[in-house]
Amino acid sequence: MSKKIVVLGAGISGLTAAYWLHKDGFDVRVLDKNSEAGGVMESVFMDGFLFDRGPNSGLETSPLIKQLVDETGLQDQFVYANQKGNKRYILRDNILHPLPMNPLSFLKTKLFSPRAKIRLMTEPFRGRSEDGYYQSIAEFVKRRLGSEFLDYAINPFVAGVYAGKPEDLSVKSAFPKLYALEEKYGGLIVGTIKSIRERKKRAEVSKQSAKMFSFVNGMQSLPKAICSKLGSRVELNSQVTNVAKSNAGYKIIYINSGTEYSLEADVVISAVPAYNTAEIFKFDEGLTEHLLKIYYPPVLVLFLGYKKEDIGQPLDGFGFLIPAKEKKSFLGAIWSSVLFPNRTEDKYAGFTLFIGGARNPDIVNKDKELIFPVVIKEFQEIMKIKGAPEFQTYRYWHKAIPQYNIGYIEHERYFDEFEKKYKGIILSGNYRGGISVGDCVKNSELVFQKVKSLNN
Ligand SMILES: Cc1cc2nc3c(=O)[nH]c(=O)nc-3n(C[C@H](O)[C@H](O)[C@H](O)COP(=O)(O)OP(=O)(O)OC[C@H]3O[C@@H](n4cnc5c(N)ncnc54)[C@H](O)[C@@H]3O)c2cc1C
Repeated sequence: MSKKIVVLGAGISGLTAAYWLHKDGFDVRVLDKNSEAGGVMESVFMDGFLFDRGPNSGLETSPLIKQLVDETGLQDQFVYANQKGNKRYILRDNILHPLPMNPLSFLKTKLFSPRAKIRLMTEPFRGRSEDGYYQSIAEFVKRRLGSEFLDYAINPFVAGVYAGKPEDLSVKSAFPKLYALEEKYGGLIVGTIKSIRERKKRAEVSKQSAKMFSFVNGMQSLPKAICSKLGSRVELNSQVTNVAKSNAGYKIIYINSGTEYSLEADVVISAVPAYNTAEIFKFDEGLTEHLLKIYYPPVLVLFLGYKKEDIGQPLDGFGFLIPAKEKKSFLGAIWSSVLFPNRTEDKYAGFTLFIGGARNPDIVNKDKELIFPVVIKEFQEIMKIKGAPEFQTYRYWHKAIPQYNIGYIEHERYFDEFEKKYKGIILSGNYRGGISVGDCVKNSELVFQKVKSLNN
């Protein structure tokens, strides 16, 4: 008899796992408390502007993404980012410097001082470190590449990916591939060269060379299309309040329109954020403790639309990131309408700004409306914009992205043990195995394999 599977959460993690299982003939149901599918992948059209409130793009690091696009009939909607998106800027002394992408531009750039460049070139002679799980990315980069590279490359990069702080994130948990270069090859420069050669042989794509994608109508198109494929198997507006062990397997309690329902399942896949998982699986104190220790900083996403003619800065890139040392009140900006079509009407340009994160979590206590004038003033100075935004909207994420901080491995080990102890429960979602959309899709395949192995 086929197992009954209930997936908690219709974000990209839950939906993709459910999709592979459904395709393989499993009896699967998905419950989500929201009225729409997608979790943080929210795309909204307002006054002619398209605003991605969560992820603006994904990286095609796995063929599974294209497979999902094809199987859900999204081929016409799928778009790769404009080539201009390869150029990324970093702010230093109020000037936007293109991030050097090859050795020659690295030698020429004014983003790093001559001293920092020489320091970086000594990287192959730095020894290996002891333990990456308990080492911050800041410590790792400072030792290998020097403090200026940490401040003006890694610090803004970490803000751009995790909205995080390099001093807190564990290098091995948050950037496993980077740490592996040292672990496997002894250094980053040698490791990068050798791993490119090896990947070429295996025909794999690295994050650095993976193509950036989105959809004509925004990132939410993907979860919405998967949701349509799953049809009535996805139940929205259904808040799960409890999962408990039962004779048959697990009993799931959820509330829909004020009415409480219960369901029996052999397998429960939790793909809700860690802090929600803690509220649902109350029968294991250790699990609750670990889940609640995972830090999700707040992020305020501000979308601004301007007339192109008012913008002095050439719009020829992905956008820019701001190192903490520059002491600005936001983390960076994506030039959304440069990257993808259909974000604005032709005469406008649309920008997505990120505020807060682990660098500046006190935005929690501030009146959001009061934050904007300061951010907009700084943004307009950097971008040489005259005049006010023609359009403005925002989304506040109280708990945005899980931080794989120092010691995260202890949580991961506990989750592995928990799954062994309670056979049939699978903990998934972006707090395991990577936070990017691409990682969530890749992990859904692992979840699928875990369920299949339970069946054997
Ligand atoms: C502002 C922001 C910008 C980002 N930018 C990028 C980017 O550019 N590129 C990229 O690759 N990644 C980006 N990310 C990360 C990426 O988008 C997320 O990690 C990923 O989408 C998370 O998917 P998920 O399914 O694991 O979780 P979520 O999307 O959080 O989905 C979890 C679902 O669980 C549901 N839920 C919660 N509690 C319950 C309950 N009790 N009962 C039922 N349902 C429940 C929620 O309603 C939600 O739908 C960004 C994230 C944020 C927040």
